[in-house]
Amino acid sequence: MREKKEIMASRKSDKSAMNEPNRLLSSGFSTRAVHAGEDRLRYADSITTPIVQTSTYAFKNSKDVEDYTKHGKARFEYGRYGNPTEQVAARRLAALTNAEDCVVFSSGMSAIITTILAFVRSQDHIVITDDAYKKTLEFCSSYLQRFGVDCTIVPFGDYAALDKAVRPNTRFIFSESPTNPYLNIFDLERLKSIARKHNVLTMIDATFSTPINQRPLEWGVDLELHSCTKYLAGHNDILAGAVMGRKELVDQIRKLHKAIGGVIDPHCCYLLLRGLKTFPLRMQTHNETALAVAQFLEEHPLVSRVYYPGLESHPHHAIAKRQMLGFGGVVTFEIKGTLNSAKRFLDHLKLCYIAPSLGGVETLITHPATVTYYDCNRKQRYALGITDTLIRLAVGIENRDDIIGDLDQALRKSVKRTR
Ligand SMILES: *Cc1c(COP(=O)(O)O)cnc(C)c1O
Repeated sequence: MREKKEIMASRKSDKSAMNEPNRLLSSGFSTRAVHAGEDRLRYADSITTPIVQTSTYAFKNSKDVEDYTKHGKARFEYGRYGNPTEQVAARRLAALTNAEDCVVFSSGMSAIITTILAFVRSQDHIVITDDAYKKTLEFCSSYLQRFGVDCTIVPFGDYAALDKAVRPNTRFIFSESPTNPYLNIFDLERLKSIARKHNVLTMIDATFSTPINQRPLEWGVDLELHSCTKYLAGHNDILAGAVMGRKELVDQIRKLHKAIGGVIDPHCCYLLLRGLKTFPLRMQTHNETALAVAQFLEEHPLVSRVYYPGLESHPHHAIAKRQMLGFGGVVTFEIKGTLNSAKRFLDHLKLCYIAPSLGGVETLITHPATVTYYDCNRKQRYALGITDTLIRLAVGIENRDDIIGDLDQALRKSVKRTR
């Protein structure tokens, strides 16, 4: 009798083993990008992960309810607590970052703010670097103060100031690498030693680098964050975010996430999964084209300065080479001339779109002085290093010569003809 039960139990586990998600941790990166996290057996034998467009999940009967509430049976209950597409995306992103665990959010900011809130209480102190994403910096330096959380903003790259800024009540150090728009690179080895010395958590927004170019968790960072809106989804068509790290930390974030409710909807998450399948291919093109564009701009007579970590002229080129496999798709540069030269340059672009964001297949360009920092006066902007002719180019995956040709013709027209 007993034997039979055991056989039944083992059969059951065989069956569930067949439906084990593909974790594929030892497989190649592009294999994981296509398959990781998906169930081997899917609804109606479909190759793609189905979109389960529902806000709630039915129990078969009262025993089914009890199996879930009392015995912890793994299943879905209500849409705010997760959905099948989101579960697959989280597993895949964990596999791509070699993380123990991951939570997916409705936007990058939702991921960042939920993560920050999960680890602070009043009387705590946090440290953030000064060229962090504008909304993250605003949240840390103004909103958190309302709840009695103190924030020190440290100049990026000043490791002595960072070390000094940490206090006994400091909960974490938050930074980015590379940063926007100057593509500064954080030396993660130094971050690790400062954090270990003071026993504080570290969080890195790695949106600009992506898990192909840099793996912060492998450098000892505790939590890695991404706006999946950018390279990971990659098509300028959705908003999404994610945080990865050790399970005990991610569990704390997940708990708050379920209350705050920045969940990604099933359809949107499907687009993230779809985008991830071609992410390694796209990223390789972004890396190669951006480097070629950066080299072209550096030689251009109408360009005064180029910032790209793959160029030897970049102040953090050595760290970037040590820490990164590729240098990403964003190139920042300054053109010669005035604010009007920059506007003329933008107005003559035929292929590149004037638009915020980055990481999609289309090449986008922004002029930080009139877009991100439109609300600052010239003096404030210059104090932040945002000059009149600074341009941020998010290189897409179009033909490299077409992108370079478009930039070249617009640059030539940025010069005002004097008769
Ligand atoms: C875009 C971006 C964010 C915000 O992400 P959303 O998906 O727009 O909410 C945060 N950090 C960095 C570095 C970004 O580029």
